[in-house]
Amino acid sequence: MNREWLEKDFYKELGISSGATQDEIKKAYRKLARDLHPDKNPGDTKAEERFKAVSEAHAVLSDPEKRSEYDEARRLFANGGFGRGGFSPGGGYGQGQGGFGEFNLGDIFGGAAGSTAADGGLGDILGGLFNRGGGATRTSTRPRRGSDVETETNLGFREAAQGVTVPLRMTSPSPCTTCHGSGAKPGTSPRVCPHCNGTGVISRNQGAFGFSEPCDDCRGTGSIIDDPCVDCRGTGIQNRTRTITVRIPPGVRDGQRIRLAGQGEAGLRGAPAGDLFVTVHVSNDKVFGRNGDDLTLVLPVSYSELVLGTTVSVPTLDGRVGVKVPAGTADGRTLRVRGRGVPKRSGGAGDLLVTVKVAVPPKLDDEASEALRRYAEAEKAGGFDPRAGWAGA
Ligand SMILES: [Zn+2]
Ligand SMILES: [Zn+2]
Repeated sequence: MNREWLEKDFYKELGISSGATQDEIKKAYRKLARDLHPDKNPGDTKAEERFKAVSEAHAVLSDPEKRSEYDEARRLFANGGFGRGGFSPGGGYGQGQGGFGEFNLGDIFGGAAGSTAADGGLGDILGGLFNRGGGATRTSTRPRRGSDVETETNLGFREAAQGVTVPLRMTSPSPCTTCHGSGAKPGTSPRVCPHCNGTGVISRNQGAFGFSEPCDDCRGTGSIIDDPCVDCRGTGIQNRTRTITVRIPPGVRDGQRIRLAGQGEAGLRGAPAGDLFVTVHVSNDKVFGRNGDDLTLVLPVSYSELVLGTTVSVPTLDGRVGVKVPAGTADGRTLRVRGRGVPKRSGGAGDLLVTVKVAVPPKLDDEASEALRRYAEAEKAGGFDPRAGWAGA
């Protein structure tokens, strides 16, 4: 039994009722999987997450045995089978959620810090439920991997294109340094809960069913703190702000979410750390735009430059480059400079796309006006009609 299941509503995920048949489950899944498939939604992280969630929901609900376990666990959960501990299923160690005084799934499943009960918790509750008549099965609690952490950062256009090292400030819960996570005032220790003998669970027999539920006296932790640590108010956890330096790879896009493995919260009892997810916001640039790995810019030119041709020095992310505008280039045409765009992860770089745009002088002096008038006559005499073939002419 996967403890994360309880926090999820697989039926809602697939948009079906809890009484759905296997056929309905299959149909709902197929449709969603088609719509949300990453190949169909490239770069859409929301669709990707939904795709994963839908796949997980299907994996559980399409297996009748897993589905009935899930249903029973959900039923127990909804009936308050876990006691009155102010249990918050959506809780956990996410930032900004506070409420560590409350019971949360992490406590139940992982055993709270300082708990003398290495086992116990939901493993036993479910063990008791699903192994009826099989005697007490002790499920050992594996060390809990640290939580993933979400954060955001704002990058300049060129930083994002070229990659940058940025400091990230993060506030996340970590074991209290004063009491080393025990929750008890330094010099004192939590004592074993006499009500549950430190197991954190109370067993109850109802006919053929053996039930276990978290102990009310110690709220499932197995220990009682008489003298709480003042710094963490007995929770054993403090919010700590830390600054880490992360390397953002070149070529990130606005809104992209980057995963930095092992940079999340530390795991409890030597378990691996969680991952850090950084959502990147990229500001606009005055000169450059982006189209995937291609860098775009608009190059102002004069009419005569387009007609006669010229070479113009344009900026790139890395120095300047001379762009040749061939004689007779049409206004609005885009010229491609290979390999001078945004660096790619796979090596190399996209292209620089230079779009020419005629700048019309707001005013000409007498000499230039006179020359232009003469030019206009010569152009006409030469047979050029800008509207030849236009609008049915
Ligand atoms: Zn403390
Ligand atoms: Zn107890």
